[in-house]
Order: sequence, then C-alpha cells, then structure tokens
Amino acid sequence: VSPSTPSGFVRVRGAREHNLKNIDVDIPRDALVVFTGVSGSGKSSLAFGTLYAEAQRRYLESVSPYARRLFHQMAVPEVDSIEGLPPAVALQQQRGTPTTRSSVGSVTTLANLLRMLYSRAGDYPAGQSIVYAEGFSPNTPEGACPQCHGLGRTYEVTEQTMVPDPTLTIRERAIAAWPQAWGGQNQRDILVTLGFDVDTPWQDLPQKDRDWILFTDEQPVVPVYPGYSPQETQRALRRKEPPNYMGTFTGVKRHVLHTFATTQSPLMKKRALQYMLSTECPLCHGKRLRPESLTVTFAGLDIADMSRLPLKRVAELLRPFADGTAAGRKKQDAAHPEQTIVAQRIAEDLVARLGVLLDLGLGYLALERSTPTLSPGELQRLRLATQLYSNLFGVVYVLDEPSAGLHPSDTEALLKALASLKKAGNSLFVVEHNLDVIRQADWLVDVGPAAGEQGGEVLYSGPPAGLAAVDASQTRRYLFTAEGKLTPRQPREPKGWLRLQGVRRNNLTGLDVEFPLGVFTTVTGVSGSGKSSLVSQVLVEWVAAELGISNEELRIDAEEAEDAILNSSLSITNSPTEGRIVAGMEQIKRLVRVDQKPIGRTPRSNMATYTGLFDHVRKLFAATPAAKKRRYDAGRFSFNVAKGRCENCQGEGFVMVELLFLPSVYAPCPVCHGARYNAKTLEITYRDKNIAEVLGLTVDAAADFFDEEPTVLRALKVLREVGLGYLRLGQPATELSGGEAQRIKLATELQRAQRGNSLYVLDEPTTGLHPSDVEKLLVQLNGLVEAGNTVIVVEHDMRVVAGSDWVLDIGPGAGDEGGKVVAAGPPEAVAKVKESKTAPYLARFRG
Ligand code: ADP
Ligand code: ADP
Ligand code: ZN
Ligand code: ZN
Repeated sequence: VSPSTPSGFVRVRGAREHNLKNIDVDIPRDALVVFTGVSGSGKSSLAFGTLYAEAQRRYLESVSPYARRLFHQMAVPEVDSIEGLPPAVALQQQRGTPTTRSSVGSVTTLANLLRMLYSRAGDYPAGQSIVYAEGFSPNTPEGACPQCHGLGRTYEVTEQTMVPDPTLTIRERAIAAWPQAWGGQNQRDILVTLGFDVDTPWQDLPQKDRDWILFTDEQPVVPVYPGYSPQETQRALRRKEPPNYMGTFTGVKRHVLHTFATTQSPLMKKRALQYMLSTECPLCHGKRLRPESLTVTFAGLDIADMSRLPLKRVAELLRPFADGTAAGRKKQDAAHPEQTIVAQRIAEDLVARLGVLLDLGLGYLALERSTPTLSPGELQRLRLATQLYSNLFGVVYVLDEPSAGLHPSDTEALLKALASLKKAGNSLFVVEHNLDVIRQADWLVDVGPAAGEQGGEVLYSGPPAGLAAVDASQTRRYLFTAEGKLTPRQPREPKGWLRLQGVRRNNLTGLDVEFPLGVFTTVTGVSGSGKSSLVSQVLVEWVAAELGISNEELRIDAEEAEDAILNSSLSITNSPTEGRIVAGMEQIKRLVRVDQKPIGRTPRSNMATYTGLFDHVRKLFAATPAAKKRRYDAGRFSFNVAKGRCENCQGEGFVMVELLFLPSVYAPCPVCHGARYNAKTLEITYRDKNIAEVLGLTVDAAADFFDEEPTVLRALKVLREVGLGYLRLGQPATELSGGEAQRIKLATELQRAQRGNSLYVLDEPTTGLHPSDVEKLLVQLNGLVEAGNTVIVVEHDMRVVAGSDWVLDIGPGAGDEGGKVVAAGPPEAVAKVKESKTAPYLARFRG
C-alpha cells in the first residue's frame, strides 16, 4: 500500500480535537490500523473523537434533523476535512458499569434464535398447543411465570425481618425497618397517640397489636405531640390540645414494599431489601417462565436449563441437529418433516454464531448471565462477536483496547476475529497498547511524543517496520529495541502467608490458596479462569470482613451499590460463599482496593476534589487579602456550595440536555461558559489566576504555579509520578478513562502517610497504559512493597508478571475447566510449569 492510491485511504486534514495539533494524516481502508502512543497522547482523540465522531455526525445528518441540530453544537469534531470515510461502528469499552439490565443472550441476539428453535422445533407434550417465541421470554406477559412475574424469586416481609431483636421496645427501635431519622420518630409518636405501648419489649406486646403495626393497610391520620410522654399525649388528646401537626401512620410492611418499589435512592432500596426475605418461586423454581413453556424441551432440556449451560455445552448439544446426525428424532422426523428442516436451519445458525463466541474464548459464559456481572472486556468481545456474524461490509470498526482483560492466549483468538472482519471487507481502527496486537497491524499511526500539550502530533503513519526509524516514538522503544526489556531482579522473600481455605465462589470449588505477604504478587490465567472471583470478590470481601469493614464502606458510590443490589437479585445461580481465612490476618491492618470504577459520574466530581488537592487550593484562595476583606471562606471557592458557584448550572459548568431517543448529553453552561463560579467569586485571584483558571491548569503546569506550596506540590508530584501530568486539575470525572480513574485512586493513596501492613488489591492496572506508563506504575507499586505493604494484582501483561515476586496462576481453562491453582511461585519457576497456559508467554520474558 502507498498513499499514492488515494481511493483506498481516509484522508484527514487539520484535526484539532482536544490536544491534536492541526494534524494531517492518511489512513488506509480495508486494513488493520493500530493507533499507538503514550496515555494521553491523543490516540482516542483521533480515532474516536475525530474519525468516529465525524462518521457518526454524517450518519445523524442523514437520519434526523432534530438530533442533528443538537449534535451540531457539541459533537462536531474539530477538523477541516475528512475524505473517504466509510460508515463507522464503535466498539468502545464501557466506561463505568453498563446501565441496561441485559443478558449474554440478549446482547448477542442468540436468545431470540433459541426461543424460535423451542417454539418451532421443540418437543411438546402430547396435546399441548404451540407456544409462540415470546412465550419463552420471562420478560413478556406471554412468558412470565404468573406467580413471580418472571423474577424467579418471591419476596416476603416477615415479623423476623422487620423486628430482628424482639427484646427491644419500640422506643429502643425494635422496628428496624422504619426510617432511621425523623421518619421513624414520627411513626413512633403516632403509635403513642393511637395508644400503643412503646415502652414494653416487642416480644411482650399482644400479637394482635404487633400484627396491626406491621401488616395493616389502614393509614389513620392522627394528631401528633412530639416530645410528650405517653401520659402527656393522652392528656393532650383528652383536652383537645392543638397538635404540633397531623401525622399519617403507615404499616411497616407497606412502608418497606413501597420504599423498595418507588425510591430513587439506591441506598434506600438496599435498606428495604434488607427486610425482605427472598425465596425461590415455588411455581417455576427460579426458571421465571410459565409452566406451559417449561414443558417444551429440546435435546431433552427446557429452555431455562439450556440458558444456564456454558455456551460451549450448548454448541455441543446443537451440533448433531445442525448436521442432521441427531439420534432419536427419527420417529418425529417421519411425522413432521417440516419441523426437521426448521430445526436444522436454526440449529445451523446457532452453531455458527456460537462458534464465533467460542473462538473469542467466551465459551464459559451462559446465555442467562446478566451483563452487569461481565467485565468490560467480555462485553466488548460479545459485541465484537455479534458484529462478526452480522455480515456487514464496507464499515470501519473503531475499537478501544480490545485486548484489555485478555490472557495472551485469548489475544490470539481476538486477532483471528479481527482478521475475519477485515477479510469480509471492513476496516479496523484500533487503539491499543498490547505489543502482540501492534505487531499484527498492517499500518501504525503513532501519536506523541508525550501526553496532553506535549502530544497531539502524528509521529509516524505507515507499515510497522518503518516506525523503527522514528527516534521520538516511545512505542518504538518497546517494539524494536531491547531498551524496554526488564532487568531481571531477585524476587523478594515473603514475610508471611495469608491462607484462605475452602474457597467456593462461581467456578471456584473448595480451593485452598495462599497469598504471600510483604511482596508483589500477580494473579494470572485465561479469561474466565476465576481470577476476579478469587481476588476481587473473595479475597477483598473476606479481608474486609476480618477487618470489620462493612460492605457499604467498600462501595465507592451509591450507583455502585445499586448495581450490587440488582445483581444480587438477578444472579440467581450465584453460588454461596463458604470457607474462611485461616492465617495471616495479624499482618494486615488495612485493605485498599484500587479499581477502574469511575471516581464519579457527573462533572461535579473531578481529580482535584477526589484527591483532596482542591481543599488546599481553596484555603489558599480564602487566605488572599481580597478574599479576607470580603469575608470569603474556603467554602466560597467550592463549586458544590451555593455561595460561590454559578447558580444556572449549580456549579457543574455544564447543563444536561435531554435528547429524545438518544442518551442525554452535557452542553456548556450558557451563563458561566463552563467556569462553574459566579462572577463575584471569579474576581478573587491568587497569583493572578482566578479559581476557574487554576482548575484549568494541567498537573504539570500547576506544579510550576504552586512551587511555593509544599502540601499542594506533594499531591501534584505523585500525580505526575503515575503519569497523569497531562490531566487538568478540574477535568470532570466523566471525561476520565477507567485507567486514569485507577491511577488517580492510586495517587490519592500514595500521598497518604505510609504506615505499612496494608493490602493493596488491583485489577488489571495496566489497562489503558502504554508500556512506558506501565514502567511508571511499577515503580509506584514496588514503592508500596518497599514501604512494608502487600500488593496483589490481577494481570495479563507479561512484563508486569515477569517483574513480580510471586505468581499465582489460575486455570487451566475457563469456567468449569478452570478454578484451580495451576502454578504458584516466583516467575522463573512458574514459567517452567507444563500445565500452565501462562508459562510459555512468561518464558519469553525470562532469559
Ligand atoms: P489517549 O487516547 O492517547 O490516551 P486522549 O485522546 O484520550 O489520549 O487524550 C488526549 C488529550 O486530550 C489529553 O490531554 C486528555 O486529557 C484530553 N482530553 C481527552 N478527552 C477530553 C475531553 N472530553 N475534553 C477535553 N479534553 C480531553
Ligand atoms: P477471570 O477473572 O479469570 O476472567 P472470573 O472470576 O470473572 O474469571 O470468572 C470465573 C467463572 O465464574 C466464569 O465461568 C464466569 O462465567 C463465572 N462468573 C464470574 N462472575 C460471575 C457472576 N457474577 N455470576 C455468575 N457467574 C460468574
Ligand atoms: Zn415463578
Ligand atoms: Zn454555569
């Protein structure tokens, strides 16, 4: 390929999105093009912010004038022209948790096909009439079990759940299910007015009274005299003394159910759920479908059982039907030849589609698995598989780090899938850091040389080999030279062991496992082998429980809690946890989990607020003579406080624009133009910059600006050390990638005083990081270990694994074929273990 054949190229002229420096670049179509460069250099700004955004804009232009008008003012990329751009499909990593409650079956559309198969070609009991495809979906009135409405569980509120400790009196809060603050007091005062005894232990009250308080549907409205004793209340009632107010009584059960059904607050919902006993639905036994639908079978299984099997097993069961070798259909075939043809057609289609999922290493998933329980990488691969069999051609697929979450052996399967999309006549634009993927590219676009202001230029655009000559490229160092190789180092000696016994969770069945303390451990294994179940779930929960940290405290924000609730009620198959920690806790004083969850979901949270840096900055502003004269305190300089913020946008700097049929978007506030503060606040300056201007500084620039302020400087220094010098202080949380969020959390942690004896747990911290950024991260993690802490990391990057002190390899395969400790020891030893799928890849890094 050469740029002299312009018909085969996408020609970008004058791209200036975010940090891009007015760049011109020609990118070939019908090729695997990989965008490389250090984090923050501008790869996504080019691939997603410019190319994909422009393709999207043109598409919208052709469909909806209404959407066009709205999108014009916000999503038009800063670029002079782009020629030769095909329609684009983005397969982006989900930032944060997906909000839709879908399943593997629904996102892949396989569920529809399976329902069709059961409806048209299933085995019906004699005399039963046909069930239409919708009748096999628990989400339709035709299919839902009439007893549990398709939930699979029934919820019950009992005296025990609402009054866990019956030795308490009502005044002592026997009724735990009541609201905690004023609301609970109000209900109690109403009971006093109604003449109930609130000072006798609950268990000694007449059953009739207890039942009425808990279960009544009556809602009497009565005078309330807060602060009066029962005697004073009765006296006041007799004298018809004017009450403080009239209060409405609500039965406790009614309150719990009402809260659960209507509250917008995830935490309230969670509280309500605490008082509800959930049991498997006695009619459908958790299968969520009406009895008629469950009598229909295929290959001997009802559709609910089929949906719970790993995809790999489903493919095995269907294959004989697809190739016409299924036994036992003879009699039926003779009677209904048309059914046989239908069964074969649908089975063929299903087997072909399942094949793509198996190739992508997803054979361990089941159709009924809900998407919020999947990792972003798994979800992206499911979407990719769906594209693979949708038979589109002439499209550009824009992908964001598709190798994230993939073991090197899974990455090989991914590369095959990308190759078949290309072969079908599509173009692939991929943002990637993984060297195995970069090596397979037909064309590289290397962006750099550094991040933010210091990046935004195309250092190289051409076939990979040519990058070897580009000195300014960081990617070149790792791709072609030995410079990026790790210097082998002697693994540290463990200072003790944290032993877990009888671990059961998901695919872990009674595992005994030990983690070394005081060293840097990496946990490896193919996707689906059980790493997250072991580390992010069991280890974190058990250690937290031992330390007396509640689940609530482990959660970072309310939305996350909501996801947890919905998952707990959705994932019926979630096996209970057993086992315990048997040794090592005496060496752990603190647990720190540094994950990739967003640090907030509105522009209201940002890096400066999250790290605590902003508190210091606000104090500096409050200490200026001008602020003192006007009596502005530090709170005045917070955009979350009414005094100082712009009232139009309530300090967000953006206003939300609701779009019909499309996700809502944020647009800059027309009053403060994004400054977030009111004019009076902005009059105060510190060293000639107002507070909004300071929030606009990058971390690097701020380090110069605050050079005389040691506290601020210390926070800025760590942020630079984790490679975030290019971020602006006020960069809203909504603009941060998962990797950036994780590094911000890490930096926040690092600037705390180091006490040692902390356990740090990280899940794939290298996601989104260029190899050169990975080096910086490793320096930080090793620093933590040197300070007397333990670091445990789930990781696929073999450079990181090779540089760790201890490797715990989980596997050997995924799902049922995994869940065992295949190898454990220093990297050198694990690299020699034959059964380990990690060993051959690790060996490449050791001598
Ligand atoms: P990469 O993909 O190479 O990691 P990005 O294209 O995401 O880099 O970012 C390039 C620069 O643009 C960074 O300085 C980043 O902070 C900035 N940036 C990214 N997204 C936005 C945004 N939505 N608004 C403003 N600046 C952004
Ligand atoms: P890894 O982290 O190694 O990719 P996981 O621990 O995520 O593996 O998954 C191990 C197995 O447990 C897989 O078969 C996966 O499908 C299953 N699994 C993981 N999380 C859940 C869940 N929330 N509900 C049901 N099954 C799960
Ligand atoms: Zn049911
Ligand atoms: Zn405003």
